[in-house]
Amino acid sequence: MLRNDQLAEWDRESFFHPSTHLAQFARGEAANRILTGGKGAHIEDRDGIKLLDGFAGLYCVNVGYGREEIAEAIAKQAKELAYYHSYVGHGTEASITLSKMILDRAPAAMSKVYFGLGGSDANETNIKLVWHYNNILGRPEKKKIISRWRGYHGSGLMTGSLTGLHLYHKKFDLPFEQVKHTEAPYYYHRPDLSMGEEEFSAFCAEKLEEMILAEGPETVAAFIGEPVLGTGGIVPPPEGYWSAIQAVLDKYDILLIADEVVTGFGRLGTMFGSDHYGMKPDIITIAKGLTSAYAPLSGSIIGDKVWEGLMRGSDESGPIGHGWTYSAHPIGAAAGVANLELIDKLGLVENAGTVGKTLNRLMNEAIGDHPHVGDIRGEGMLCAVEFVEDRANRTFFDASKKTGPAVAAALLKRGVIGRAMPQGDILGFAPPLCLTEDEAKTIVDATAEAVKEVL
Ligand code: PLP
Repeated sequence: MLRNDQLAEWDRESFFHPSTHLAQFARGEAANRILTGGKGAHIEDRDGIKLLDGFAGLYCVNVGYGREEIAEAIAKQAKELAYYHSYVGHGTEASITLSKMILDRAPAAMSKVYFGLGGSDANETNIKLVWHYNNILGRPEKKKIISRWRGYHGSGLMTGSLTGLHLYHKKFDLPFEQVKHTEAPYYYHRPDLSMGEEEFSAFCAEKLEEMILAEGPETVAAFIGEPVLGTGGIVPPPEGYWSAIQAVLDKYDILLIADEVVTGFGRLGTMFGSDHYGMKPDIITIAKGLTSAYAPLSGSIIGDKVWEGLMRGSDESGPIGHGWTYSAHPIGAAAGVANLELIDKLGLVENAGTVGKTLNRLMNEAIGDHPHVGDIRGEGMLCAVEFVEDRANRTFFDASKKTGPAVAAALLKRGVIGRAMPQGDILGFAPPLCLTEDEAKTIVDATAEAVKEVL
């Protein structure tokens, strides 16, 4: 076995880590952590340090670590048939079964599943299909996509453009000009504090309508949004938000893409976030919880309306010119089937609802009155704590103080992983859906101590 210091050296020399300060890492100023194992909600590193993972990796290990059932399904598939493509009618029992299982669980009026590798490529697929669809319908000018500030939809070219966080645009010449960003449904940051939740939802819908009218409704193809904003700060929408947005989209014949990469398969205590908020999406993006990240797999669930258009186009113009080598990879599909079976067997959707409620309630009880805690919010197994300099006047800490990362680091010292969200001083939690009540309490107790230490 290689020595830790040898591995750390190779790591700095050869590994280009995503979302990392490159120079600091190369100089050894930023720590590395080499992971070896995991069980349930815990992971372990090479030094034998055990951590309670309050973010399920990147909100993805929904069933928790170390699930034999999924490992065995992957091994069986790898031995029988590790790979074959899914072009021109090819498939495996796993990929066909998984498509059926997804549609059985999806909201109404969904027709087919297109498989990819991760959330970013699934959203790239979605936009291409929306454009293709409008070309088939004979309205080639209807191509613009409206996203929200603070939305996160990936970091490809189009998806990095859809993402409404500056970090993902800066020095990449993004966003593309076909992409427009509208108001985030961020109630805590509403422009006028006298607004109630319904009023703020109406305001967001008005802003969207203004944008559509300014661009020309005949040029706007789709609106994309996460049911709950994730990477942008874990922000559940205000009361009435999705019905107000849906009404505007219906009025101008604009498709809704629900990006459920985080919320799909139980995180909000319902199978999909669209069910939770009564959304009527035309396309749903899925990834992360689809396999609980035991293997890379994503999907675009295509609604009846778009599917019918694509079918019509196919008769006119032949096979659709879009595909990935690894679409519906058999190993990913086998992991997906075993994962969805496990979610049902262990009742994890229900557990996310009940333990998630406990997590949010305990967090409020423990630090809700702290003078530097401005907001605690969550839904299902999602929870966020936002730190402010002055609670009464809602003034924010200077970004250079890096208050969010400092609290996350203090939390880590106590054996718990929380995520300092990329924009603002926000500590986020998205634990595995199998979290127990005791583990929820451990997260809260450690957070309270970390807040006390830093603030
Ligand atoms: N969409 C949402 C809502 C996400 O949270 C993410 C990743 O965090 C993505 C898309 C992109 O997924 P991936 O990182 O698998 O490309």
